[in-house]
Amino acid sequence: MNDSVGSGTGGVLDLRGANLHCGRCSHDFGPAAAGWKKRTLVRERPMAGAGGAPYRSRGHVLLRTFLCPGCGRQLAAETAMKDAPILDDRLHTVPAG
Ligand SMILES: [Zn+2]
Repeated sequence: MNDSVGSGTGGVLDLRGANLHCGRCSHDFGPAAAGWKKRTLVRERPMAGAGGAPYRSRGHVLLRTFLCPGCGRQLAAETAMKDAPILDDRLHTVPAG
């Protein structure tokens, strides 16, 4: 059984057993509770100009995007200060019932 996961990623990850998989290509990101972002392709670019004129941050504020290594689908995005650690999103599930 596949469950769509809406853990801040827009429901693009599927939970199968204890592991998260890409909703498009089924790439396995490992245990849902173990920091799946470590297994993605991470791209960083300065926010300056990323969203148009309102974002004038001189490059010290970054836009990070997390991509599936299997198909390139964007799974999540976050803003962060330069050299700040990646937000450690984890999925905690509760049995239905
Ligand atoms: Zn994929």
